[in-house]
Amino acid sequence: MSYFQKKFVANSAAMRVRFGPGVRHQVAEEIHRLGARRALILSTPQQADAAMDLAEDVGALAAGLFSRATMHTPIDVTTEALAHAREIEADCLIAVGGGSTTGLSKAIAYRTDLPQIVVPTTYAGSEATPILGQTEAGRKVTLTDPKVQPEVILYDAELITSLPVAMTVTSALNAIAHAAEALYARDRNPLSTALAVEGMRAFAESLPRVIQAPDRLDARGETLYGAWLCGTVLGQVGMALHHKLCHTLGGSFDLPHAETHAIILPHAIAYNAAAVPDLLTPVTEIFGGETPGAALHGFAAGCGAPLKLADLGLASSDLDRAADLATQNAYWNPAEIDRDAIRHLLEAAYCGRPPGS
Ligand code: NAD
Repeated sequence: MSYFQKKFVANSAAMRVRFGPGVRHQVAEEIHRLGARRALILSTPQQADAAMDLAEDVGALAAGLFSRATMHTPIDVTTEALAHAREIEADCLIAVGGGSTTGLSKAIAYRTDLPQIVVPTTYAGSEATPILGQTEAGRKVTLTDPKVQPEVILYDAELITSLPVAMTVTSALNAIAHAAEALYARDRNPLSTALAVEGMRAFAESLPRVIQAPDRLDARGETLYGAWLCGTVLGQVGMALHHKLCHTLGGSFDLPHAETHAIILPHAIAYNAAAVPDLLTPVTEIFGGETPGAALHGFAAGCGAPLKLADLGLASSDLDRAADLATQNAYWNPAEIDRDAIRHLLEAAYCGRPPGS
């Protein structure tokens, strides 16, 4: 099947991508290539060891370490890291970690325009986008700016073998969500659709193999390949209902990012499938099921993903407010947004019922 469209606009960001087990050891070469010599290395507290290893690897090119990256990029942490970057006269940023660490790197780059090298260790895909979400006074605000797009990405399968299986599954579904929504994006183009389909296919084939043997570098490598494609698509086209629901549940109810994506995805896709069944055909073809929602629900359940928002700490009394917040501001979506239908969707996701029931 061709993804040809009669009319389209396609934009691609300039990014250099290197792929392969052990490629993290090429960070020094990439710093030189950028013309830099004083790197600030960023991580979360949990991944401080990975940041230390990288610092040892690059030797004198490491001017400093900052290991306090936090989920949802709080501004106060950015302010602290920015002061450190200025104090050590950093001329480039190295992020080793998932979306939280990449978020901190992007937040510093947004304020300084320093070049970034990202070494991703989850499948969230932030490294491949010019998007930054930051939190101030409990409110998460998202912006898009070319300054935020990392210049270099090093995908190293050896680093992702330490991602626990439960997080591996939810993070993969987070990536698949970018691709699934890209299939019906209003500003999609044939290339974004091809990337989305190939990204989902890569996960459908490799994720079950990773679950069976989390240390297998070939399967882990293919999941990272999927993450790159799905992240690239997220950077190229607009998202809709699924991302809006997850943003609401994460931002206003503090639900964890990847787990929320994993639970909401089959429900949001089922909601939209009624409006754009043809565009979602690749989902049923790739994941195997009667409908796109059932296909994703079956795949998620088969991978052992969480299925109930109740298990993430949401209360049933929160459902009305969540439905109100998620439908308050108008945004584009292929199916009409109806507050009661969204309340119904959230309740199904809360209880772990199959999508559309
Ligand atoms: P994360 O970066 O918060 O990581 C979760 C935890 O897992 C952290 O403690 C981290 O240190 C640890 N971890 C990560 N990789 C590991 C590994 N290989 N082994 C062991 N531990 C590891 O989680 P995430 O889901 O990657 O990122 C979520 C954040 O990214 C959210 O704030 C989300 O909004 C943002 N995000 C942004 C974009 C964008 O384009 N701007 C895209 C996707 C996600």
